[in-house]
Amino acid sequence: MASHECSSFRTANPPKVWPAAPAEMTVTTLAEIEACPRRWALRAAEYADLWDGRGYPPRVQLATLAGTVVHAVLEKITMEFVRAGCPSVRDAAAIEVMKNLGGYSRVVSDCIDRVLGRLARSPRATNLVDYASRSLRAQISDLRARAQMMLCRVQLPQTTRSETRGHRPIPRHPLTAGVFPEIEFRATQLGWKGKADLFVLSPDACEIIDFKTGARDEKHCFQLQVYALLWSRDIELNPNRRLADRLVLRYGSDDVEVDVPSETAIHDLERQIVARRDAAQQDVSQRPPEARPDRHRCRYCEVRHLCDTYWTSETQRRMAGQDRNRRFTDFEVTITAPHGSSSWDATVELSRDVPAGKLALVRTSVEEQFRAGDRLRILDVALTVDEEHEAEPVVLTIGTLSETYAVP
Ligand code: SF4
Repeated sequence: MASHECSSFRTANPPKVWPAAPAEMTVTTLAEIEACPRRWALRAAEYADLWDGRGYPPRVQLATLAGTVVHAVLEKITMEFVRAGCPSVRDAAAIEVMKNLGGYSRVVSDCIDRVLGRLARSPRATNLVDYASRSLRAQISDLRARAQMMLCRVQLPQTTRSETRGHRPIPRHPLTAGVFPEIEFRATQLGWKGKADLFVLSPDACEIIDFKTGARDEKHCFQLQVYALLWSRDIELNPNRRLADRLVLRYGSDDVEVDVPSETAIHDLERQIVARRDAAQQDVSQRPPEARPDRHRCRYCEVRHLCDTYWTSETQRRMAGQDRNRRFTDFEVTITAPHGSSSWDATVELSRDVPAGKLALVRTSVEEQFRAGDRLRILDVALTVDEEHEAEPVVLTIGTLSETYAVP
């Protein structure tokens, strides 16, 4: 296999060392491992030869970036409201808070910079940050409206003694009354932790609120009930084992009240999450961890180019026929010869859409220098099939959002 130095063209090298099981479990990590232990391990492993960040470099996911920005806006403005003792957007103090922040559009713009700044460190994002920036900036008024719709339902206690100090963590000692954004609950004796968006504590109220920028999902209710459990078992923040009395999921258009677990329900939930933590840790201790291919999971899997189970004829066959309308798909091909200045002849090795051995014409709009014999995994490539002339090669067009990896 030829080696390549071009930045847009990397090798699909799996990790040299599989990661250890997570010492403390979170709802997100548990869901990741239970869905596919291999995917969690491929993402969590170290890739020091690729970058100095943690895990596998993230990909730009345009579909979820807008939600990430809205969440960052909510976090920022709520933090400032809490700091100023401002209970809601309808309070007179809110005008001053927003003025100091430069207005909603300014906050949205700053949050876009922050989100893209984090992403820009990823070598997989280099070519896409400008594209993502243009896309997000074109949506500023929509993002602003989404954040405002959620903020107008925020009602904090009138007088609060916030322990918020900018983005510094809240000291881990018994909490008294206050409003606490981005608070981490830890139940070290259970090996669990979780971070809630907003926690309100007063003599009359003990509320956990989480902002959700996507669609409703039953899993969100489970997440909030786990937070209620972790708060009740956090011996540093809550030595008196006070129970939460209100759990709220704040979606774009409405709030959902989640059932508050009783002490008995908390005991049952505790047993359940400890057992699930043990099973998940066991699953990711396998070498390699089990791969659980599934149409939906694999389609959006950021590390599928590294997954040997995904790149088998059996898995591709199982995926065949699904998503017939999907124009963008994944292919493994071998380049056979140059065809034109930016196109190559190739043979299909693996695909859910066409049989192995089929001839292909690989086109690219970005500068790539392939060589005869290169074996490539191409993700999210546009497939064109000439239905009337079946013997013709299929055309694979590598676009802005596609990724190409050499098979090691
Ligand atoms: S491609 Fe599918 S099976 Fe492989 S790691 Fe990703 S989700 Fe799991």
